Amino acid sequence: MRKPYAERILMSGKITVFTGPMFSEKTTHLLSAYRRSVRGNRTVLVIKPRIDRRYDPEKIISHNGEEVLARLVDKAEGIYDIFGSMKYGIKDVFIDEAQFIPNLSEVLVWLSRTGSNVYVSMLDLKSDGKPFETSSDVFAVADKIVKLTAVCTRCNSDATRSFRKNPEDKGDIVLGGKGEYEAMCLDCFSKNMSEQ
Ligand SMILES: [Zn+2]
Repeated sequence: MRKPYAERILMSGKITVFTGPMFSEKTTHLLSAYRRSVRGNRTVLVIKPRIDRRYDPEKIISHNGEEVLARLVDKAEGIYDIFGSMKYGIKDVFIDEAQFIPNLSEVLVWLSRTGSNVYVSMLDLKSDGKPFETSSDVFAVADKIVKLTAVCTRCNSDATRSFRKNPEDKGDIVLGGKGEYEAMCLDCFSKNMSEQ
């Protein structure tokens, strides 16, 4: 697909990433930035991957119950189509669960070249402790990365890992709520991984 030319280059926008393990309130931070934009009368666009059907197919819902309507995309290139179909200029773009949108980094750079600020919420690591490739790529082009931590369910120190309780399901896709995962610090994560 040929991507549209980023025509109105006045000043590039900034790419901000909220990242960390599950339960680190990434979506809450994303929605906080969203509310700030809306209060400032900025035109906004909210996007999430179609794969995330955790609570509702067209809304972003944080663990504390806050919700916002979102446009769904199957792949990163779908964002070009959504952006091109908007009648007015978009100032701020918000993308939730972005680790599930492959090849996203190139589109984020394109969005920032149109002058839009982009806010992204994404997991940094899979439940096997290895990085999401999409996230590593996005970190490389980001202007600002906010690393969030959760609370370790075993020792109460800062948690940086998402531990999946059912070892059969370990791997690429990490979906689901509280029941399937525990936030852990690296020490507790390593101990529990070796015991599984
Ligand atoms: Zn711990």
